[in-house]
Amino acid sequence: MDGSSTEGPALKRPASLRSTLALATVFGAVLAVLVSGAVVALTSILHHTTIRTGNALRSVRLTEGAEIDLLLHGRALDPIITRDIEGDLRTRLREARRLVVSEEEARVLTEAEGKVEAYIAASHDPDSSPQDRTARQQDAYEVLERLIAINIAQSSAAQREAARWSTLGSVIGFGGGALVIVVSGALLVWVRGRAFAPIFSLAEAMERFAGGDFEARAPEHGARELSAMCARFNEMASALTAQREARIAFLGGVAHDLRNPLSALRMAVGILRLDGRRPSEEQLRRMAEKIDRQITRMERMLGDFLEVARIEAGQLEIRSEVHDARTLVEEVVSLFEGASQEHQLTVRLPDVPLYLDCDPLRIEQVLINLVSNAIKYSPAGSPVEVALEANEAELELRVTDRGVGIAEHDRERIFEPFRRVGLSQQTIPGVGLGLFVVRKIVEAHHGRIELESARGRGSTFRVFLPRRLAVPEGLSSSFEDTARPLH
Ligand code: ADP
Repeated sequence: MDGSSTEGPALKRPASLRSTLALATVFGAVLAVLVSGAVVALTSILHHTTIRTGNALRSVRLTEGAEIDLLLHGRALDPIITRDIEGDLRTRLREARRLVVSEEEARVLTEAEGKVEAYIAASHDPDSSPQDRTARQQDAYEVLERLIAINIAQSSAAQREAARWSTLGSVIGFGGGALVIVVSGALLVWVRGRAFAPIFSLAEAMERFAGGDFEARAPEHGARELSAMCARFNEMASALTAQREARIAFLGGVAHDLRNPLSALRMAVGILRLDGRRPSEEQLRRMAEKIDRQITRMERMLGDFLEVARIEAGQLEIRSEVHDARTLVEEVVSLFEGASQEHQLTVRLPDVPLYLDCDPLRIEQVLINLVSNAIKYSPAGSPVEVALEANEAELELRVTDRGVGIAEHDRERIFEPFRRVGLSQQTIPGVGLGLFVVRKIVEAHHGRIELESARGRGSTFRVFLPRRLAVPEGLSSSFEDTARPLH
C-alpha cells in the first residue's frame, strides 16, 4: 500500500467529519422545523375550511327550514300555529345572520328578511288580496333560494380550498420524506466512503505494520480528520521504521566501533607474547598509550549507552549545586588542551563569575560532547571557540567550529538517538548518542539548545541555561556586573 496522499494539493480540501455531520444535523433540524411548521399551518388552514364548510351547510339547512316555514305559513289556518311558524322563521333567519361570511350573503339575507317581513305583514293585513300574499310569498321564497345558492357556493369553495391544501400537504409530506431519504442515503454513502473506508484501511495498515510489514502505510483519503489520522500513522510508521533502521545501523556501528579497540588490544597482547623478544621501552610506551586510548574510547561508548538507557527509563539524575559557569568551562577546556594539539582551541570568559544551579558533572558532560564533536567534525588546525556570556535571565555556553557543518534538513534530526548524518558518519567514529544526551541534560536543567550551521563552513551550538539570580552567600558579590546582552 502506498502512503502518499491520493488527493493532490491542487484539489479541494476534503470535507471534515465534524463539519459534515454538523451540516447534516443542521439540515435535518431545519427540515424537521419546516415540515412540522407546514403541518401545523396546514392543519389550522384545514380546520378553518372545515368550519367554513360546516357553517355554509348550516346556513343552507336554516334557509331551507325557513323556506318550509314559509310554505307552511301560507297553508296554516290556525292563528296560533301561524304565529309559531312566524317565530320559527324569524329565529332561523337570525341564526343565519350569525353565520354570514360575505357582504353579498349579508345583503341577500337582509333582502330575504325584508321580503319575509313584507309577506308576514301582508298575511295579517285584511286588505291584502290572496294574489298579493302569494306574490309576496313567492318573492320571499326566491330570495331564500338565492341565499341557499350563495351558501352552497361557499361550501363548495371551502371544500375545493380544503382539497387544494390537502394536495399541498401531501406534496410537502412526500417531498420532505423523499428529501430525508435522499439526504440520509447520501450521508450513508459519504460515511461509508469517507469515514468507514479510511478507518478500515488504517486498521489494516496497522495490523500489517504490527505483523512486521514495515512498508505498510494507510492511504490518506476520506474525511479531513481521518486522512489526518492516516497521515499521522504514516509519519509514525516512517519514524519507527527509520528508528528501526537507525538501531540496526547502530548495532553495526557498535560492533564496528568495538571491534577496532579490541583488535588494537589483541595486537598489543600479541606483541607482549612474542617469545624471547622483549619489546623496547619505546614500544611499550606507545602500546600503553594506544591501549589507554582504546579503553577510554570504549568507556565513553559504554557510558553513552548507559546514559541513554537511564534517560529512556526516565532516570536522568540531576544533583543541583550552585556553580560558577566559568570554572566548568575552564575545567572542560583544560581536558582538551592536552588532547587536541591539532586544533586551535580558544576560550572567551567574562571577568566576573556567572552562577547557575546545575549538576556540574552533567554540564561538563554537555560541554565535553560539544567540544569533542567540534574537534571531530572539523579539519586539523582549524579553530574551535568556547565562549560564555549572559544576560539578566540566562547564560549562554557557545561552541563554534569551522568544520563540515550540518545541512538544514539534518539540524533537528541530529538530536535523535543513533542519528548520524553527512558523509563524515562513515569516516568519523561515533554512535550518534552524544547530542541526544546533551539535549536531555540541558532540558533537565530547564534550558534549551540551538544550532546555527552552514554546510562546509562550520557550526555553532548554543546552550542557554537559566541564571541563578540571587548571589549565593560566601560567593562573589560582583555577580550583578556580569549582565550584558547575549548577542
Ligand atoms: P556522534 O558524534 O557519536 O555521531 P552525536 O550525537 O554527538 O553523535 O552527533 C550526531 C551527529 O551530528 C554526528 O554523527 C554528526 O553527523 C553531527 N554533528 C554533531 N556535531 C557536529 C559538528 N560540530 N559539526 C558537524 N556535524 C556534527
